[in-house]
Amino acid sequence: MTDIVFIITLCLGLIVWVEIVRDFYHILAHNWQALYRFHNWHHRVFNSNFNPVSQEIYRKAHWYNDVPEALVMMFFGTIPVIILWSFNVDYWWFAESGFFYSSFFLLGAIFRGSGLPNMDKITDLTHHPGQFSSLPAQWFINRPYHWRHHFDNQKAYYSGTLALVDKVMGTALSLKGKTVGVTGASGTLGIEILKILHLNQAKIVAFSSKNKSITLDMNGYDLPVKTLIWEVGKEHELINELLKIDILIINHGINVNSKRSIEFIKESYEVNTFSSCRLMELFFQTIKTNRDKACKEVWINTSEAEVMPAFSPLYELSKRALGNLVTLRRLDAPCIVRKLILGPFKSKLNPIGIMSANWVAKQIIKNAKKDCRNIIVTINPVIFLIFPLKEFFQSLYFKIFTYKNSN
Ligand SMILES: [Zn+2]
Ligand SMILES: [Zn+2]
Repeated sequence: MTDIVFIITLCLGLIVWVEIVRDFYHILAHNWQALYRFHNWHHRVFNSNFNPVSQEIYRKAHWYNDVPEALVMMFFGTIPVIILWSFNVDYWWFAESGFFYSSFFLLGAIFRGSGLPNMDKITDLTHHPGQFSSLPAQWFINRPYHWRHHFDNQKAYYSGTLALVDKVMGTALSLKGKTVGVTGASGTLGIEILKILHLNQAKIVAFSSKNKSITLDMNGYDLPVKTLIWEVGKEHELINELLKIDILIINHGINVNSKRSIEFIKESYEVNTFSSCRLMELFFQTIKTNRDKACKEVWINTSEAEVMPAFSPLYELSKRALGNLVTLRRLDAPCIVRKLILGPFKSKLNPIGIMSANWVAKQIIKNAKKDCRNIIVTINPVIFLIFPLKEFFQSLYFKIFTYKNSN
C-alpha cells in the first residue's frame, strides 16, 4: 500500500514539476528579450477571438515557441530521474512520468507546426475560438483564464495548465489599467483600498454617498479621485457608470450597534443587504462580451459577521443575509464574484479595532492577485477553518435545492 501511494505521489509530483518548469520558462520568456523574440510568435498568432491571423504565423509559432517549451520541460523532467536513480531510490523509473507527459506536448506542437488538420482541437484546449461558456477557472487553466494573458496583460496569467505558479507569484489577477470602482469610498477602509489599487496601477473610481469629492493623501502628494455621488435606493442610476467599470468593490455598509427599533431594522437591511444585492445584479447586467466574462469581477465585503458575532445584532443579521444571497447568486454569476471576509479593523466607526485599515486593504489586494475567491483577513484563526466549511456546505445546499431559471 505504501509503495502504491509513493508511486502515485511520484508520478503526480513529476507532472506538477514539469508544469512549474513550463511556467517559469514562460515568465523568463517575458523578461528576457532574447527568448521573447521566439515567444512573441505565440502572441502574434491570435486575434481577440482566438482565431489564428494566418496559417503561416500559426505554424511558425509552434516551431519557435511550443516545441522548445516542451523540450525544456522534457530536459528538466529528466533531472529528478537521474537524482533518484543515482541514490538508488526504489521505483525511480516512475519519475519518468514528467518526461513522458512533456513528450505529449512535444508531439502536439510538432503536429500543429506541421499543419496537420484538427490537431489544435485535440491538443490545444486553451486557444479554441468562440464564446466563453465558463468563467476563468481557479486551478486548471481554461480559455477565459488564458485569454487574459494574451489580451489583458502579458505580464500576468503565466500559468499554462495549473494555476499554482500564478497563485504563488501573485500574477493570477492583474489590476494594471483596470477601472475599479469602490463603494463606501469615503470610509476608512474604502480610502485605503483606493490607495492600494492606485499603487497597483488601477484606474480608480470612488462611489460615495457623501456629497464630497475624494482626494487621497499619497504620502507627500494629493491625488484627486473621480467621485460619483449616489444614494441607496437609486442604484439603477449608476448603470452607465457600471458599464465602464471592470472590477466593482461593494464595500458600503452601516452599523446601528445596539439599536433594535423597526426603523433601524429596515435601514440595516436596506443598506447592508438589498442595496449591495441590487448593485451586484446591476453589474451582472453589464457583462456581455468575452472580455467582460474574462475580466469583469465583483468583490463584496460581507465581513466575518457572516460566521461570528460582531456584538451588533442588526449588523450581523443584515451582513449574514447579504453573505447568504451572494453565495446563492454566485452559483449563476456571469463573472467572478469574490467575498471579503474581514475582521475588526480600526476606523472612525470602530476606534478599538485591532487591525489597521491599511494592512487590511493590502491583504485584500494581495489575496485577490492570488485569485482567492473568499478573501479572509482577520486575526481570528477560527474563521479560516469555519468560513470555508460554511461556504462549501451552504453553496452545496443551495445547489441541490434551487435551480437556474433562465427567465
Ligand atoms: Zn496562448
Ligand atoms: Zn506569453
